[in-house]
Amino acid sequence: MSIAPAPAVTLGNRFARELPEMAVPWQAAEPPEPRLLVLDEPLAGELGLDPAWLRGPDGVRLLVGAAVPGGATPVAQAYAGHQFGGFVPRLGDGRALLLGELVDGGGRVLDLHLKGSGRTPFARGGDGLAAVGPMLREYVVSRAMHALGIPTTRSLAVVATGRTVRRETPLPGAVLARVAGSHLRVGSFQYARATGDADLLRRLADHAIDRHHRPAAGAERPYLALFEAVVAAQAALVARWMLVGFVHGVMNTDNMTISGETIDYGPCAFMEAFDPAAVYSSIDHGGRYAYGNQPAVAEWNLARLAESLLPLLDDDQERAVALATESLGGFRTRFDAALSSGRRAKLGLPGGLADAVVGPLVEELLALLHAGRVDHTSFFRALAVAARGDAGPARRLFTDSAAVGDWLARWLALGPDADAMDRVNPVYIPRNHLVEDALAAAAEDDLEELRRLLGAVTAPFDERTGLERYAAPAPPDFGDYRTFCGT
Ligand code: AMP
Ligand code: MG
Repeated sequence: MSIAPAPAVTLGNRFARELPEMAVPWQAAEPPEPRLLVLDEPLAGELGLDPAWLRGPDGVRLLVGAAVPGGATPVAQAYAGHQFGGFVPRLGDGRALLLGELVDGGGRVLDLHLKGSGRTPFARGGDGLAAVGPMLREYVVSRAMHALGIPTTRSLAVVATGRTVRRETPLPGAVLARVAGSHLRVGSFQYARATGDADLLRRLADHAIDRHHRPAAGAERPYLALFEAVVAAQAALVARWMLVGFVHGVMNTDNMTISGETIDYGPCAFMEAFDPAAVYSSIDHGGRYAYGNQPAVAEWNLARLAESLLPLLDDDQERAVALATESLGGFRTRFDAALSSGRRAKLGLPGGLADAVVGPLVEELLALLHAGRVDHTSFFRALAVAARGDAGPARRLFTDSAAVGDWLARWLALGPDADAMDRVNPVYIPRNHLVEDALAAAAEDDLEELRRLLGAVTAPFDERTGLERYAAPAPPDFGDYRTFCGT
């Protein structure tokens, strides 16, 4: 493979230098016919990359890893992970590469990473490849999440490779170029811990503190402070998912970041009819990663992080366990507080109302939404209309509008602020049927529907005429939606 320099970009190799035991230098497979499908131009701008250059041949070569900037050391990262509760000591980037770190306009260090760039030593039985559909899906959903203000890895571009990927049927291949605060995961710490190398674990923790949680460095117990910072970031993140009806779908510990960014948009989906048991992944038979289980799973994953960090917390292991247990207890408190204030905001409630008033009001509403199988996203926008004086649209979402009438009267008496509600309740989310339609058209080389969908979901709070279709739930004949992993 020929490696042409990409003079317009400088990438660091800090992860590769500081943690060589977890970084296997590797090269991307050269795509036969790379063709740029989508590029997030505003993100390119934030990164100081010229979108016109990225669209050109040298830019596209960078986006698939065929051109490696001077100084960069692309690596496959090692990590472990609990997958559906079972520990796998060696997962790692089987089809991905960390190209290196770049610095954005605000001085933030970010990873530039590729997915679908060919087999690596971590590929096990996999082919190292990704198909256009799932990579465009990650592109759309991560852009929507960012626009919703939810911490997430970002998608810079999807490039079709011109290679055929064999799944159940032959599919066109693609590489996703992804940008993230970092790709450090709970599974990274599990890997370091499992090696038994205490120095590696400490270097990994120092690296994580420096990249994500700097105040921890000055704490009395820096590694406990790191753990607490991750607990806080994940509690805030999962509360945001719950508030917008996002179901991640595969919350394995290798898919949970140390930064608190959402990562790995495999079998994720946005819930329509409100249901704590909502599951979309075809392989999640037990509902382990159901909508309503997400906080408990996050807490479980954080316990695995705590176990990995134990040797750094205290020389006395009993004391270390006691410290970690106490800090993990902060998850529930923080999550509950974030969820509760987020729900107050969704309902447009004025500050200062007692929990004794708001708590039962919220619980009754959720029970009504669940019983009526009401579309979660539409409901909160209709509720703002009710706050402005027309309760019709909200009532019509329920078959039994008498019960909701009583609830609406009590809520209206609290004086909700409709404009504040519209600032936190999205009109447009990447609804599953719309994403599927856009991907089906893209598979036929028609990207127009994808562009329209992106237009809607990248300005999610801003209702626009002509986009009604993007605000409505799936037609009944769409049926039970299923998503697939490992695509
Ligand atoms: P994921 O389900 O995407 O989080 O991936 C779980 C693990 O499987 C990671 O170690 C991936 O690198 C690996 N993996 C997934 N798909 C492939 C593939 N097509 N080829 C090689 N490794 C893969
Ligand atoms: Mg993963």
